[in-house]
Amino acid sequence: MVTRRLFLLCLAALAFALFVAHAAGLSARFFPARVPEHAIPLSRTEFALSTVCTVTLFDQANHDVYDDIFRRIREIESRMSLFLPNSDISRINAAAGIAPVQVYDDVFKVIERAVQIAEYSGGAFDPTIGPLMALWDIMGRNPSVPSQAEINAVLPLVNWRNITLDREERTVFLTLPGMALDLGAIAKGYAVDEALAIIRAARLERAIINLGGDIITHGTRPDGTPWRIGLQAPHEELRTALGIIRGRDMTVVTSGIYERYFLYNGVHYHHLISPFDGRPARTGILSATVVSSGASMDADALSTAIFVMGYEKGRALVEQLEGVEAVFVFEDRSVRATAGVDFVLVDDSFRLDY
Ligand code: ADP
Ligand code: MG
Repeated sequence: MVTRRLFLLCLAALAFALFVAHAAGLSARFFPARVPEHAIPLSRTEFALSTVCTVTLFDQANHDVYDDIFRRIREIESRMSLFLPNSDISRINAAAGIAPVQVYDDVFKVIERAVQIAEYSGGAFDPTIGPLMALWDIMGRNPSVPSQAEINAVLPLVNWRNITLDREERTVFLTLPGMALDLGAIAKGYAVDEALAIIRAARLERAIINLGGDIITHGTRPDGTPWRIGLQAPHEELRTALGIIRGRDMTVVTSGIYERYFLYNGVHYHHLISPFDGRPARTGILSATVVSSGASMDADALSTAIFVMGYEKGRALVEQLEGVEAVFVFEDRSVRATAGVDFVLVDDSFRLDY
């Protein structure tokens, strides 16, 4: 997982390097006399939301903006993390089957959206996936393959219909004891949107936000051309790009099986769990990427949803949605992209199908 993140980081670094080279006139002269101060891109990287978060502001360096963004990211984490006992999510889970819990506005908003996406993905994305995640413990210290009986015991607890929301009171209630919310497939996307809102409010014209691979680009590159985001080749030792997605003001979010998983008796168990059978979803897909001009929060949840749904249903869902595109990478090394995405294959050990 960290490797994929590092890879995206490297790509971003490459983008900066190219930008600096361009701004400094390196293409024309090998040694710039002086790099104009306004042209130096700055970025800040911190560990938050259990991942590497990098924000790059290409306009005049503004430390207040970085501070504001990372403060907001940490605030979101403090409210939505499963791992902090006092977060709203932990409090909701502790009160499952007992009582509604009043939450912050933003927490309510994300849960409300998660429920909508659960509904239109036919339950493939389900924010009540918590008990299954705990059972498999794929990202924890003791991942294990549960028995069918164990899976059967928790499956009834995974059902977004058993979330009761009260907008007036801003409360969330999980109706069955043992239920648990897990916003792992949506909270990062929300944090990306919030970071972008701060950048817009500061009237900065270009930026890239990369929260553990959930990426949003703002504006264009300094020369006016679209940003280029690398799509990682899954399962490669060397984390190279298998293709490039080009666009301006787009969010790119990938759900893949190659970042968080464990091996048991030679079988690969990853962290994208089907709420239908309680097991890692096996659909022949290695990664599903959503490219969208809309909210990163939606793209984040959708990438998980379409991975779990599989290619046919996933693609059909994406094609129904305005401004949303997808790129699927399959176990047989084929790649398929929806019509509206500007995607170029760069690794010829993969092949582009239509
Ligand atoms: P990542 O966060 O690793 O980039 P995703 O955005 O796809 O990848 O989120 C995966 C996380 O989402 C899992 O770690 C788990 O917390 C949660 N999750 C797993 N399966 C589902 C599912 N079917 N519906 C909703 N959330 C899920
Ligand atoms: Mg996701």
